[in-house]
Amino acid sequence: MKEARFWKPENGRVACSLCPHSCKIAPGRRGICGVRENRDGRLFSLIYGKASSVHVDPVEKKPFFHFKPGDKVLSLGSIGCTFRCQNCQNFTISQAQVGEFGLEDMSSEEVLDTCRKTGCKGISWTYNEPTIWHEFSYDTSKLAKSKGYHTNYVTNGFIQEAPLRELAECIDAMNIDVKAFHNEFYKKVCRASLKPVLDAAKLAHELGIHVELTYLVIPGKNDSEAEIRDFSRWVAQSLDPNVPVHFTRFHPDYLMTDVQSTPIKTLDMAYKVAKEEGLRFPYAGNVPGDDRENTHCPKCGELVIGRMGFSIVEMKAKKGKCPVCGENLNMIV
Ligand code: SF4
Repeated sequence: MKEARFWKPENGRVACSLCPHSCKIAPGRRGICGVRENRDGRLFSLIYGKASSVHVDPVEKKPFFHFKPGDKVLSLGSIGCTFRCQNCQNFTISQAQVGEFGLEDMSSEEVLDTCRKTGCKGISWTYNEPTIWHEFSYDTSKLAKSKGYHTNYVTNGFIQEAPLRELAECIDAMNIDVKAFHNEFYKKVCRASLKPVLDAAKLAHELGIHVELTYLVIPGKNDSEAEIRDFSRWVAQSLDPNVPVHFTRFHPDYLMTDVQSTPIKTLDMAYKVAKEEGLRFPYAGNVPGDDRENTHCPKCGELVIGRMGFSIVEMKAKKGKCPVCGENLNMIV
């Protein structure tokens, strides 16, 4: 247990300012995420150094297609989440309460030792929402950066400005989920809200963090052409047309088993609409072997990175540039 960052006392409670829920927590109670507790008027993280999952993955699996392509990363998760997504694929850990799930104690030094032994070049904070693991991910990422490792977050982007600014000191890349482009979906399906996520994506980009976005396309929920066009236009005009966007295929899970898998023709539409709106690097995800999982130069069309699932099968990009026309591919290598 470790005292949390980003809180202050308020009228006999503690006010947490890590995520936009801004919980006001009474003594002995926890915030919505379930992992931050008011003990005698101070806020504590209950999951500092407590991992639910530790795996070695290709960075492509997060997914990152323009950040350190081909590198292995140590993926770490704990428990808890700020969202309640009905379709969560990791609900056994994201919705677990403290004490319900066996957690492994790990120090920051042990994380880096595991990186070294497994040949990982970086750390990915993933599986459950890393924002609520802030104290441990921040301490460990700072140490990791000092030793030459790279770091990334796979996140729902529901974070306040001050902790995001702090993370920019030590997090190189973020894959941010945009779960839909209308607030009603966020309210009903996730019990959260859209605007803070869009604001965080813009701020992360401004702070120099490499940003990629994932939009899970769910039939009947967020898959209309109008919504995908609005989202793509927002990326192109308010964020950056060079930001890679992964339109991934939904598979039924958790409380959303009554919805079919995303038809390929819907991903066709999303990809086409994204291109029409000016996105330079849209992708289709969860469709191994599909050409839209490859990277093509947006200027001359050359295939610059070929992929099969999460593996790179052809690497022609040179130092993040197209080998034919020299176009910058917005790639951290
Ligand atoms: S991080 Fe947890 S305790 Fe803090 S505001 Fe968000 S949900 Fe509430």
